[in-house]
Amino acid sequence: MMNKNTNILIVGAGCFGTSTAYHLSQRGYTSIHVFDRYEPPSCEAASTDISKIIRSDYNEPLYAHMGIESIAAWQSWSMFRGLYHVPGWILSAANLSIPFVEGSIETCKRLGVQGLERLTPEQIRGRFSVVTGKLDGWNINVWNPTAGWAAAGKAVERMAGAAQQSGVEYVTGETRGYVRELILNEITQECKGVVTADGTKYEADLVILAAGAWSPSLLDTKGQLIAKGHSVAHIQLTPAETQHYAAMPIMDNLELGYFFPPQEDGIFKMAHSQFITNVQTTKSGITTSVPHTFIQTPEDGLPLEIEAKMRQNLRRVLPELADRPFCYTRLCWDTDTADRHFLVGPHPAYKRLFLATGGSAHGFKFLPVVGKYVTDMLEGTLDPEIVRQWQWRAGQDIKGKNLAHLDPEMELADLTGWKGRHIRERDHACKL
Ligand SMILES: Cc1cc2nc3c(=O)[nH]c(=O)nc-3n(C[C@H](O)[C@H](O)[C@H](O)COP(=O)(O)OP(=O)(O)OC[C@H]3O[C@@H](n4cnc5c(N)ncnc54)[C@H](O)[C@@H]3O)c2cc1C
Repeated sequence: MMNKNTNILIVGAGCFGTSTAYHLSQRGYTSIHVFDRYEPPSCEAASTDISKIIRSDYNEPLYAHMGIESIAAWQSWSMFRGLYHVPGWILSAANLSIPFVEGSIETCKRLGVQGLERLTPEQIRGRFSVVTGKLDGWNINVWNPTAGWAAAGKAVERMAGAAQQSGVEYVTGETRGYVRELILNEITQECKGVVTADGTKYEADLVILAAGAWSPSLLDTKGQLIAKGHSVAHIQLTPAETQHYAAMPIMDNLELGYFFPPQEDGIFKMAHSQFITNVQTTKSGITTSVPHTFIQTPEDGLPLEIEAKMRQNLRRVLPELADRPFCYTRLCWDTDTADRHFLVGPHPAYKRLFLATGGSAHGFKFLPVVGKYVTDMLEGTLDPEIVRQWQWRAGQDIKGKNLAHLDPEMELADLTGWKGRHIRERDHACKL
């Protein structure tokens, strides 16, 4: 049983870990330690980004409800002041994801989301003259004026600051904060704490694994969590272009990539919707997809095939930008479950060990509230239906009715040009 002095250790200070720490502290828990390899906002976290989409469009009512609840928080909580923007968005699909979009329209309407409109490509170009592309493959489109984006990294930083003000301790850094292993006692079948990279053992009454895409490298989740790399690229616009493209909505085709209106500094962000896995065997013997980030290997870059597809997708929307150089690229890693429901609940075997992860490419928008649900789970008051949907479900026959992204993922080793790409390009540039 938990009490307010229970010693709680959270591994990972991204969206799930930070929101959980914050909400636990608001409920009066007094001994909370969050471990992360980096200071918040962690430079490797999926949650650390210049923008993430905040929307309620889901076919699954649970997340549509949570989206509506989160939007209210993004709009009204003082800690997020100035970080939330509402240009509206167009949700689209080419083929495989059409049922998701149809389902989202139904669910949103049922829940009273106002202003949804189906648009043809012609109507999109008519309404947003900045969109010049043919929009080929944008086969079903819905405009939702209530959706927007948040400055994600800054939001996590502010929430971590609020948690710290409420007494949460952050333990960060490559040695002190980097958790090397969970202390799992096979005889007593319990988790006793963690060991960090400097060899220090930290004991706790309760450990919450919230390490995002790194979770399945720390704990064998029996294939329930798959780390996937999302390709992201930025283009630097001129001030005049920035002003021009400010009139665009967020445009998200679940199969053909998504595009944000530019930031104030002229950064135009786009991302690819087909993800990459990187299957390895970890030192502890777990075979799983392991994040490969450009923070750890700054010499590497995007695979050539992916960049070509991203440019092809941009050409469908804003052809005049399609050949512009990328000023920044990233492989950003999140972890998917098979049904895209989160994995939040107790470990079935090890006592005192809980999971709060499985963001499944859609977790960030819930930053304001997801920790409240995790805290309810820990206190035993979470709605039983949500408990069931989020529980440990290894070995279950999963039906993928929530899937937004259906494209099969690609394996990094099968792609070309990424290894040492930045060094090659730097050397080449010097010779010119
Ligand atoms: C490119 C991209 C775009 C996305 N767009 C959206 C969007 O528009 N809207 C949306 O709602 N969602 C979006 N998502 C999904 C969302 O970002 C994730 O679901 C969510 O951020 C996951 O949060 P997390 O806390 O589980 O993981 P993370 O944010 O990745 O946090 C994990 C943390 O654990 C730390 N960590 C890892 N290993 C260790 C260790 N061994 N020891 C200590 N610390 C460790 C990391 O440093 C990191 O801080 C997107 C994801 C990606 C990748």
